[in-house]
Amino acid sequence: MITVNENFLKLKASYLFSDIAKKVKEFQNNYPDRELIRLGIGDVTEPLPSACIEAFHKAVDEMSDTKTFHGYGPEQGYAFLREAVSENEYKQYGADISPDEIFISDGSKCDTGNFQELFSNDISIAIPDPVYPVYVDTNVMAGRTGLNNNGRYDNLIYLDSNEENGFVPEPPSTKADLIYLCFPNNPTGATATKEQLKRWVDYALENRSLILFDAAYVSFIRDSSLPKSIFEIEGAKKCAVEFRSFSKNAGFTGTRCAFTVVPKDVMVYDKESNAHSLHALWNRRHSTKFNGVSYPVQKAAEAVYSAKGKEEVKALTDYYLENAAIIREKMISLGYSCTGGDNSPYIWIKSDMGSWEFFDYLLQNTGVVCTPGAGFGQCGEGYIRISAFNSRDNVIKAMDKIASLK
Ligand code: PLP
Repeated sequence: MITVNENFLKLKASYLFSDIAKKVKEFQNNYPDRELIRLGIGDVTEPLPSACIEAFHKAVDEMSDTKTFHGYGPEQGYAFLREAVSENEYKQYGADISPDEIFISDGSKCDTGNFQELFSNDISIAIPDPVYPVYVDTNVMAGRTGLNNNGRYDNLIYLDSNEENGFVPEPPSTKADLIYLCFPNNPTGATATKEQLKRWVDYALENRSLILFDAAYVSFIRDSSLPKSIFEIEGAKKCAVEFRSFSKNAGFTGTRCAFTVVPKDVMVYDKESNAHSLHALWNRRHSTKFNGVSYPVQKAAEAVYSAKGKEEVKALTDYYLENAAIIREKMISLGYSCTGGDNSPYIWIKSDMGSWEFFDYLLQNTGVVCTPGAGFGQCGEGYIRISAFNSRDNVIKAMDKIASLK
């Protein structure tokens, strides 16, 4: 008899975005003539930069000729892309990350989800609430949690992110071996200062913990005092891994390319406290289970760092940030309190009703689809997330419709 991994049965029955899709479908069936504006899911809407498209086409043409054809590439990614990332994302900002500490992959979702495989099942794990659900669910699947009780899994240390701490939790008083952090944050749009990250790095060094730092939205940071990488913080190269993606800066959500930085100085320990290289372990895992991102996609990603690519990526992220500013300013003028939307494409809005109630109210009365904060965790109750990933026209139209409710 084939038996199931019962950890999967602990997962909450449905996924946030499928619940939203169900409600949207119902709305469309009931009101086929009414317009729908989707400011819910964090998918981009603008096309790839032309620098990427040109590089992509050229690389596809290379595949048609035996002399320039590429078969399997290095599992860790081509040197041309790893070098471009090292130079443009790190060395330029004073973070000494070498190309061989960078692993190219097909997405930060997979990497943030897969990384936990390297650790034993009895570690303690700290996860912010609200949170990008992948960190929690993959640890549930691996059997590191108990059952879900009233929306929280037993055996996880939840880091409440709320108005009191400005949606940036402090290190807990208890010991956490593995810590997930994400800044600029999905869903709250909050950013962390160097001082705040320093406290986490100090905590991790003191406890021999590891920080998994998800920086998928770093390209939206405009405040130059904010850190662009955890590796700008002294000591982080000994206790942190960083996840980055080309999805939100260059529109690769459907093209798929990302990278994970695993510094060679990070150590993990066996039961006898012998140290092992995390880099060597991830390299072993990555090259066993992954066969590399396609050559044309890596060429397209490399073009992000050309002069033209940089200009286009800046224009793309500026465009979404202008949308975010429109949303933020309008919601504030209507009396809502908002976080994010300045160095982030997400605006986290406090409501005077429950999350799902506010979601339904906006959908039924305006046709605007947002994301109920409660779907990201207990602390998200009473909030909604509005995403700036849409056309300017749709954003303005959505805000006008919401304003007309007042
Ligand atoms: N990390 C966070 C915080 C995200 O919000 C997302 C996507 O929405 C991802 C990672 C996934 O990125 P990718 O498209 O590279 O898989």
